[in-house]
Amino acid sequence: MKRPFLILVLVLLGCSKPVVTGDWKNAPVDPIKPGAIVKLRVAYANNPRLARFSPDHLRIVLASAQLTMWKNFGTFVEFTDITETGVEQMFALIPSPIRAARVESIYDFKSGTGDRRMLAEGINNTLTERKTKLEDALTFAAPYLPGSPPKDLMALSESLTKVMLERLEQWRHVMAADGAPVLDASPYNEWVYWDTLGYGNLQYDLVLTNQFIASAEYYGVDIHSAIRGGVTVGTTSYSRNSPYASYVFMSTFPFTDNSGNTRQLRDGDYSEELAAELAGAYLAHEIGHLLFQLGHPFGQKACAMNPVSMLRFREWYTQINGKECPIGSRPEMRAGAIPPSFNGDWLKLTPAP
Ligand SMILES: [Zn+2]
Repeated sequence: MKRPFLILVLVLLGCSKPVVTGDWKNAPVDPIKPGAIVKLRVAYANNPRLARFSPDHLRIVLASAQLTMWKNFGTFVEFTDITETGVEQMFALIPSPIRAARVESIYDFKSGTGDRRMLAEGINNTLTERKTKLEDALTFAAPYLPGSPPKDLMALSESLTKVMLERLEQWRHVMAADGAPVLDASPYNEWVYWDTLGYGNLQYDLVLTNQFIASAEYYGVDIHSAIRGGVTVGTTSYSRNSPYASYVFMSTFPFTDNSGNTRQLRDGDYSEELAAELAGAYLAHEIGHLLFQLGHPFGQKACAMNPVSMLRFREWYTQINGKECPIGSRPEMRAGAIPPSFNGDWLKLTPAP
């Protein structure tokens, strides 16, 4: 993919943190036509250390996604039975050469060996590449930043770095039911790995997990994720084995967790049933990227493609209205607005399975 196009993708893909340089190309796949029959292959990857949705509640997640797809995109989506697997088995799909290539992007907050200066410069580069206006960024971010408003993008990046690392550090104190930290020594919290499954032999279009995905990268950190402390809800990324050239991964942790950290970013408590309903609705946002290649109409609250603010899913859900934001109604809502893209260098590292 050409660099200018990559920048456009970065501007539009807020819930994605693509990037790093390399041989980026678009996958030659058209978005699906409204009214098409769609059946998505679903897996659930469990981390036995963490709280999870019951099998019944996972079915509620899919039912809610189905209804939200119908109401907002006019498309009836069906799902296969959910294949249960483990996070370990899921990570085993990642080809080791690609894993080695991506580890360089990780800011290692666990060992304390991460380079803070490089992280701030990385955020500054991303903001600059995305042609972010300081004023626009501050409209969203200022309430969450300490001290007086930053004067330029580099100062904003430093402030975001501080907030992100402080909050990531706070996430390290959140404990799982076994008494050990949710963010343990395992690599399962790292976004870059979840983002790489599709270069391996992944046979699913949707991967749900109870794993908490919270991390920092030297490239492509977006403001939304930084302010949450590097927390990812869902991402739609390239898959070599999907008819849509993409797959979705989504963490249910932000919906089910009731720690003080999560509640601080959320709009009240959710029952397990409401959490499943909201998770399903937000899954439809990702399926909107997957099937129609839609972008992000930031701030357009009627649009299911408007990213959630912090972890305020109930607020997001009550505001979406498909009649006020149908497909095609805005540039970001045009089918094919953001075609799936892949890194040819990474693809070359592993032959097709
Ligand atoms: Zn999104």
